[in-house]
Amino acid sequence: MRRSSMFLYTRKEVSSEADVVSHQLMLKAGMIDKLAAGIYTLLPIGLMVIENVKRIVKEEMDRAGAQEVLMPSVIPAELWQESGRWDKYGKELLRIKDRHDRDFCYGPTHEEVITDLVRKNVRSYRQLPLNLYQIQTKFRDEIRPRFGIMRGREFIMKDAYSFDVDDQSAEESYRIMYEAYHKIFKRCGLNFRAVEADTGQIGGSFSHEFMVLAQSGEDAIASCDKCDYAANMEKARTDAKRLASKPEDNKGLESVETPNKKSVEEVTAFLKVPAGRLVKTLIFKSDNRFAAILIRGDRQANEVKLKDIFAGNEAVLANEEEVKKITAAPSGFSGPIGLKIDIIADNSVKGMTNFVVGGNKKDTHLINVNIGRDFEIKQFADIANIEDSDPCPLCDKGHLKIDRGIELGHIFKLGTKYSESMKAYYTDAEGTEKPMIMGCYGIGVGRTMAAAIEQNHDENGIVWPIPLAPFKATVIPLNTNHEGIMEVAEKLYKELTELGIETLLDDREDRAGAKFKDADLLGIPIHLIIGERGLKEGKVELKLRAGGEKEMVPVDATAARVKAIIVEAI
Ligand code: ATP
Ligand code: MG
Repeated sequence: MRRSSMFLYTRKEVSSEADVVSHQLMLKAGMIDKLAAGIYTLLPIGLMVIENVKRIVKEEMDRAGAQEVLMPSVIPAELWQESGRWDKYGKELLRIKDRHDRDFCYGPTHEEVITDLVRKNVRSYRQLPLNLYQIQTKFRDEIRPRFGIMRGREFIMKDAYSFDVDDQSAEESYRIMYEAYHKIFKRCGLNFRAVEADTGQIGGSFSHEFMVLAQSGEDAIASCDKCDYAANMEKARTDAKRLASKPEDNKGLESVETPNKKSVEEVTAFLKVPAGRLVKTLIFKSDNRFAAILIRGDRQANEVKLKDIFAGNEAVLANEEEVKKITAAPSGFSGPIGLKIDIIADNSVKGMTNFVVGGNKKDTHLINVNIGRDFEIKQFADIANIEDSDPCPLCDKGHLKIDRGIELGHIFKLGTKYSESMKAYYTDAEGTEKPMIMGCYGIGVGRTMAAAIEQNHDENGIVWPIPLAPFKATVIPLNTNHEGIMEVAEKLYKELTELGIETLLDDREDRAGAKFKDADLLGIPIHLIIGERGLKEGKVELKLRAGGEKEMVPVDATAARVKAIIVEAI
């Protein structure tokens, strides 16, 4: 493409609203244009990158045996009522009415539509397994759209759905997607990790998120420094045995006065013990059921893990009055001894001896408390967030480190959640009707582009991994009024284009410095600089955006050299 006629306008300054690098650089490089909060136009150069991501996704999905469809964006409410999500999905769901006052929504995800499609067309086990996917624009009325297209309201997603006859086969479908996702993100040139993710009430370990490591990531992920274990914070576990300090002989239970000392910090400072010696007792309420949750003093409960304990229901801390009723003391002095409600303890409490708890009496704590002798625990569970350097739960040597990541993809074994509620049944070889076992698999196409920039940039702009780059090469004639220079520039442009290499010819009558700046900002991997000095020897300068290496290449060998660099990278 010729730069002089391209709808591409780079800029030096961008709105202060853009607070992550990828958003700033996309605006500076003229890739996107904001229409409303979380709603963007993709400009030519942005769309070129999106198309590259889509192509890689498509190729790997097809190779994995999935078939492409395109479902409607506007979905009748009936389907969502059938699955039960019309009432559950909340405000992220954009609900609309047609001229007949009928309810519709703009699809934020397509489990309902695909289940309807498959139940209408698949009857027999012979038609399974099946995996259908689409690449489509979704709408979610995100409460806080931000970071440009990274968390937009309208965004492009690849979503795939698998249908199988039984669990074993569904797990095979899942594995195939797990591998396809690895190939996709590898081909995009990204540094990523597949991490175990929470499956909520559906259970099992069949959910992985594909995370790109980046400082600006909204998610925290834990990974082992010795083995392959990696999980997001909602799922990350530690090894309670290795975490526990050495057990001591039980000492005699004692009550101590702790006037006005309520928080972990106040109590442990007053008693001169480390926070890890105290067990805090939190009274939670869910669905009018109360439970005492015990957590080691230096740890924090994870909301999602807590929800799993309460069978998927939201749990909230009991209010002052409720705490008083249950513990006979103001909050800050709750403890497990003598409580009439269920006591559930985080794994970090396992193996603790002679610890401190609240005395269920104002201004009182108990020391040298021991499980079994002083009170019983109904259940141990994984409730607390892991902390940096915690022991790895899988190998016996490693420790966990916490990084920030951006979720690009999510794969999930759904089971029969939708096939049961929406009656997607098939008949097996014996003639019995059974619900299909489903899986769903998403990739944020725009978010992948944004994450690629988060991971690949420098102070001068984007440094595209070659497979995603909108143009692989840019031809930069230093003087557009010089006949010889323009002749070579046109020749190279033609040769490269004929080789199928997307090339930008910067034919503007501009200063060389401005052109270099733009080529750097746009992140084009290969710069071909044509100047008088080089041409005297029949050479052009080839510069790599990543690393900045330069070489002088004979004009006639240039196109082949460019092609070789690209082939090696793709
Ligand atoms: P998040 O936790 O970031 O909101 P999600 O769990 O809601 O993501 P999924 O429903 O699994 O996401 O959607 C599949 C993929 O779609 C995500 O992995 C992500 O890459 C992308 N995605 C989700 N929400 C957005 C958004 N608001 N803007 C851009 N991409 C998104
Ligand atoms: Mg979301």
